[in-house]
Amino acid sequence: MTDYITLLKKHNLKATFQRINILEIVDKNGHIDIDGIYEQIKQKLPTISLATVYKNILSMTQSGVLVEVPIVGKKSKYELKKADHIHLVCTKCGDVEDKDCIDITNNALMALTSKESFELDTRQINLYGICKKCKQAS
Ligand SMILES: [Zn+2]
Ligand SMILES: [Zn+2]
Repeated sequence: MTDYITLLKKHNLKATFQRINILEIVDKNGHIDIDGIYEQIKQKLPTISLATVYKNILSMTQSGVLVEVPIVGKKSKYELKKADHIHLVCTKCGDVEDKDCIDITNNALMALTSKESFELDTRQINLYGICKKCKQAS
């Protein structure tokens, strides 16, 4: 299990009980939206409000503990910050799948950014479409 207290402190955030619980839920689910986090955290902290959950997610996203994955037409999902990877996002069911960056994508990004004299730091690549499950169901 990830040491959430150390993770929060590394990003200059106080390791509150609420934040630790949110990180635990996000970690367990991989990618999850605010409503999903709220549903699950209420079981442990019944008095917590959606606004509090939202505020904590915002501060953890701004400080780089969490990463927001925007989904067209749906609520964003959040994940723990990990090594750069590619997302396959289903616009129908909202499912998000992680794919590793491979040489061919890295080479294309390096070629593109170096041509612009742009110093590449973080890559977030979201590819949108219909997943296998939704395609089979239709
Ligand atoms: Zn789908
Ligand atoms: Zn991801």
